Amino acid sequence: MHIIEIYRSLQGESSFAGIPCTFVRLAACNLRCVWCDSEYTFTGGTKMTLDEVEQEVIRLAPARRDGNQNRLELGTPAPGALVEITGGEPMLQERELIPLMQRLLARGYTLLLETSGERPLQNVPQEVHKIVDVKCPGSGEGGTFRLGNLEALTLRDEMKFVLGDRTDYEFARDFTREHGLQGKVNTVIFSPVFLKNPTAQRDSSNCQLDPRMLAEWILEDKLDVRLGLQIHKFIWEPATKGV
Ligand code: SF4
Repeated sequence: MHIIEIYRSLQGESSFAGIPCTFVRLAACNLRCVWCDSEYTFTGGTKMTLDEVEQEVIRLAPARRDGNQNRLELGTPAPGALVEITGGEPMLQERELIPLMQRLLARGYTLLLETSGERPLQNVPQEVHKIVDVKCPGSGEGGTFRLGNLEALTLRDEMKFVLGDRTDYEFARDFTREHGLQGKVNTVIFSPVFLKNPTAQRDSSNCQLDPRMLAEWILEDKLDVRLGLQIHKFIWEPATKGV
């Protein structure tokens, strides 16, 4: 597999936000979102075997089996048990990624998969929590979500829309309603775009879309969605990598 980095941090932008997590960041992406903060994943990376990736994940934080299943059923994994597979676009390495996910699940890890949903998702193990980032028009990659992937979603999964302006918001609102996302997935997240070149300020001045405005639109339209902020960009300086 081509790996950019494997590291420990806090999960930053899903219903697992704030929980310590091991990130496995895979190289390469087939999209070019205008506000992408992960361009360093587009090329390069270190070639690692499945064994090497698995051992590094275990070294950083072993899965804890004791009581983990009970906590999982309540929606809270035990500390050390959470792993997020991200990129780039991880599903470009599907052939190696599926066996890796199966190995980590067998060891008792709780797995999150961050993907744009452009590649087919039907082979992802059901136990994995898919976090599907549907691209909005302002990303420059609108229309890339594969509609057939709606069939692969379960109540374990999350759908996310990263919004730069009112046009993006209306796209996300209409998509959510049209496809009945609330009944399909665990949560739908509306998140403001962070500026591509943020200042060192750890506050919402770096959001392209004011979170307060987004909150007011959500309330006005009576949407049953979650406003998501990338909390790692409020904890560490927004341009910091590997957090
Ligand atoms: S899909 Fe993700 S990694 Fe790829 S260009 Fe868009 S934001 Fe960047």
